[in-house]
This record gives sequence, C-alpha cells and structure tokens, in this order.
Amino acid sequence: MKLTSLHKRHNELANAKRQLEILSNGIFQTGDLPRFKDKISETGQFPLKPKKIEVLQINVGYMCNQVCTHCHVDAGPDRKEIMTKETMQHCLDVIKKTEAHTLDLTGGAPEMNPNFRWFVEKASKIGVQDFIVRSNLTIIKSNKKYHDLPEFFKKHNIHVISSMPHWTQGKTDKQRGNGVFNKSIQALQELNALGYGMPESKLKLDLVYNPSGAFLPGDQYSMEQEFKKVLKSDFGIQFNNMFAITNLPISRFLDYLIASENYEDYMYSLVEAYNPSAVQNVMCTNTISVSWDGWLYDCDFNQMLELKVNSKVNHISHYNENILQNREVVISQHCYGCTAGAGSSCQGSVA
Ligand code: SF4
Ligand code: SF4
Repeated sequence: MKLTSLHKRHNELANAKRQLEILSNGIFQTGDLPRFKDKISETGQFPLKPKKIEVLQINVGYMCNQVCTHCHVDAGPDRKEIMTKETMQHCLDVIKKTEAHTLDLTGGAPEMNPNFRWFVEKASKIGVQDFIVRSNLTIIKSNKKYHDLPEFFKKHNIHVISSMPHWTQGKTDKQRGNGVFNKSIQALQELNALGYGMPESKLKLDLVYNPSGAFLPGDQYSMEQEFKKVLKSDFGIQFNNMFAITNLPISRFLDYLIASENYEDYMYSLVEAYNPSAVQNVMCTNTISVSWDGWLYDCDFNQMLELKVNSKVNHISHYNENILQNREVVISQHCYGCTAGAGSSCQGSVA
C-alpha cells in the first residue's frame, strides 16, 4: 500500500490540537507520569528560557519525495505548503542582521521548493558561518533536474546533513520507503566523489540516525564508529559526524506509537530516561524555527504542533532578536524526547 501523509488520509492526528490533547491527557492527566513542566521545575529549570539565538532553522516547505513512517513533519508528495519568494526575502533580510552563526534549511525535501536554489544563492552571499541543508539524499536521484545538486551544494559550500537510519537495505527501506537505501548510497558516493565527508576536506557531510521503532537511540559515538566502519567497508562511503536523534511522540511517529499500542510504554521510557542536565542545552535554547509561511517557533517540533513562540514578535516579517531572546519556551510532554538520556536535538546529543 502506498503511504500518504496523515493530512491526505484525514487522520485525526493531522490536527495539532488533537496531538496536544493526547499528550496532555491519559497518563499525564491521572498523574501516573509527571508533566514536563513539573519535571523541569524540580531542578528549578521552569520556565525554560533561551540563551542566545545561534541557529536560524528555516522550513521551506512540507513537500517531500518520500513518506517516511516516522516523519515528524508529516511530509510527503501530497503536501503543498511551500515557502514563497516573498517570505524567503523576509528571511534574507533577517539573515543579514542576525547574530546567529548557523542557517539550517529543512523541509520536507527543501530542494523541492521551486525557489530553493535562488534562496541558497542569495543566502550564501551573505556569508553565513555554517550553512546547512538537510537533504534526504534520494531527492538527488529522483529526477534529472536534481542530479546536479551535489555540485550545487559544493559551489555554495553547503554543509549537508542527511538521514541514514541503518547500513542495511532492509531496515532503511522499512522506515523510509522502498528503494531509499540504494539511492541514498549512490547519492553519498557522489557527494564523497566531490570531497564531501572526506578527510582533509572542508565540505561537511553528517548523517542522522533515528530509531526504527519505539525505543531510544543508543550511544551516539559508538553508533558513529559502527556506521563508519560498515559504510566504508561495504560501499567505500565516508562521512564526518553522526547525530543520534530520539523520535518525538508527535505526528506520524505518534500515529505509529498509538497504532502499535506502544504509546504509554514509550512515554514511560522517555520519562524514565529524563536527564535534567540535558534541559539547559535543548534545541530551543539556541534556535528559532521559521515555518513555510513565516511564523516563528521555538523548534521544528513546536512548529508541527502549531505552538508559536510566546512573544509579541512571532513572524519573520517583524523579527527582533532582542525581544525574541527574552521569551519563555512553549513546552508540552513531547519535550521529554529532547531530554531523554544524552538528550536529543537536530544536531544529536546535547548532554
Ligand atoms: S525524508 Fe524527511 S521530511 Fe521527507 S518524509 Fe522522510 S523524514 Fe519526512
Ligand atoms: S520539543 Fe522543542 S520546545 Fe520542547 S524541549 Fe525540545 S526543542 Fe525545546
């Protein structure tokens, strides 16, 4: 059966309010598990306040050529939300004046936005210190018009970060779709051939691992060593760093947890693995997430739950870093995904 987004299926979890209801009721309402707010209060970390905005993460659209089972964006070919050139122009104006050192473009498959290349060309000229594109790799092989993306990335000194849940075809395709593994391997080889991920090269290629089921990721460093060993010996592939990311209980992963009757057990394991020292470095403490329509969020997960920043400045068109840095982060029980074990963010472990 061809997988489609929750939106396309009119699944109740396509509704952010419904997701938040699930995350606030049940075991959290009965008190079997503490709410995130109460948990972080135990160590005096509520309200959660950002430190300095260092990363501007821009989601240029929810359209994707893949429909991964655990996608927190609920992305897919049927999603039509795409950032317009006008909103991109607002983003460029902000990039010119921000003190953030990292620009992180995400999606969906960001390359599917028809103005993606225009935007990257403009933004790279501004001179961002670290310019990340989260590429799902298969987009490069999906259509002739994307075949030259590796050269395009190289030309603009893009730091490529891509998902690779496993070094075997079976496990990767199960989570990300049939044929994904082979295309990803080809794309990684092409990136390596241009210098990406190679020793001594300035072109950075990082991989992201997220678990294929209702369990937490293992140790990031050991996983990186194992992936490096197998990808090199089996396919001659090299990369820089591996980021281990915990699946947050939202969107399609929440749907999976409920359908497989793992929701409560998973929430118990997240709460049991709660690590108070991870709280101070969660992603929302140094990131602002911009949605395809320009609204501002504490992180990409809050964006998907439609929890806008708690600030009078909540749209890219009237962005103000000083005001935004004084906000309180909007939290709910999904935040336990960021504070379990070694913690988790778009750049891996945080503790
Ligand atoms: S490639 Fe990324 S954005 Fe696209 S469906 Fe998979 S997880 Fe979601
Ligand atoms: S889900 Fe977002 S708001 Fe919650 S802790 Fe993680 S980064 Fe912060």
